[in-house]
Amino acid sequence: MRRALAAVSFLFAAASGLGQAPAAVTVIRAGTVIDGKSPSPRRDQVIVVRGNRIESVGAAGGAVPAGATVIDLSKATVLPGMIDAHTHIFLQGEDPAEGGYDIQLLKYPIAYRAARAAVAARRALEQGFTTIRDVETEGAGYGDVGIKMAIEQGHIPGPRMFVVTRAISTTGGYPLEGYAPEIVVPKGAQIVDGPVEARKAAREQLDNGADWIKVYMTHRSWVDAAGNLVSQPTLTLDEIKAIVDETHGWGKKVACHAYNGVGLHRALDGGCDSIEHGLELDDAAVQQMVKQGTWYCPTMSVYYTHNEPPDTPGGKRDRKRVALHGPSLTKAYKAGVKIAFGTDVGGFPWTDPIAAEFPRMVEFGMTPMDAIRSATSAAAEMLGMSGQIGVVAPGAYADIVAVPGDPLKDVKELSKVSFVMKDGKVYKN
Ligand SMILES: [Zn+2]
Repeated sequence: MRRALAAVSFLFAAASGLGQAPAAVTVIRAGTVIDGKSPSPRRDQVIVVRGNRIESVGAAGGAVPAGATVIDLSKATVLPGMIDAHTHIFLQGEDPAEGGYDIQLLKYPIAYRAARAAVAARRALEQGFTTIRDVETEGAGYGDVGIKMAIEQGHIPGPRMFVVTRAISTTGGYPLEGYAPEIVVPKGAQIVDGPVEARKAAREQLDNGADWIKVYMTHRSWVDAAGNLVSQPTLTLDEIKAIVDETHGWGKKVACHAYNGVGLHRALDGGCDSIEHGLELDDAAVQQMVKQGTWYCPTMSVYYTHNEPPDTPGGKRDRKRVALHGPSLTKAYKAGVKIAFGTDVGGFPWTDPIAAEFPRMVEFGMTPMDAIRSATSAAAEMLGMSGQIGVVAPGAYADIVAVPGDPLKDVKELSKVSFVMKDGKVYKN
């Protein structure tokens, strides 16, 4: 029965295709192609895009298909559309002087926050990030599902989105905090206690459109008397296991915010799919990540923007986080942990360049090519989209960007994206 239906729908598609205009063909002349996967770049290439897919990539000199639109990037370096695997379109790098995080949840109508999220999504696209994994709405409910829908239906420009909706933490494990106990304030994440509530929250979020589930496995952090960074664990092993089991049953994955210590190890023992931030991965954590194939999504830039005065507890913590994060990346990279590019943009303003994370990755030991791959084919693999995005190759979606110079010589070039195509459509040229 199923086979018969498939045959009928194929015939129908073929017949209806006859009446349609052929898909538009675009030819890109590329000076250099870094395809997101290969170890070295290729010079003087021609990329043929038909509709929203890449049809071919080959040496210049061949015949150009009749009627094709030609885009000349012969002096530029062409790359796959980049992927930021840790964003927050519902945050705007809140300035404490302007009410900080709390005002978002307490005073701003959801429509206001959604309008700003739409601007953030456009900003990602304009900077060459054609895919984002947006890791929670910070009290804006299922707003990310709506923004994703508006982008997919062509109402607003934006990247492909993988969304997590509300995120999950425990009582005492997420803001808003510090209000009179008698007042009920909203929380920036869905709060659960116990494996039953944990599983139920995952079910609700998956039912309402979550592509991934995001869990906060650590929350508060401080520097102890011995000078170590300590982070408060949140979910128990039973709680995280319930979430991972439920989510994997839906064929989806779990991202765990975890700084270090007990919470980080519970995330790994619970079978999470990615560690977010991972400020201080100890040797056992690194070994376990390699063994389990856990992804590491470091987010260095954002911590440089959080600096309370140096002689305060908060200031000591902020400086310790910066001091630990780079070496943690170095250790993971050397050990062969799979690394996906992430920034936590939204934690800093969307007006700042997302690509500022690349020089930090290189500073802490990654080659420019591996840093680029973390934001292209590697992140695509994490998202279950290998061969579809994060690569300039036949069959992939036509998500293509270009920069004027050579990012392998100076990775800062990636902040100068001058051309953006997503799904075969040009957004910047
Ligand atoms: Zn984040």
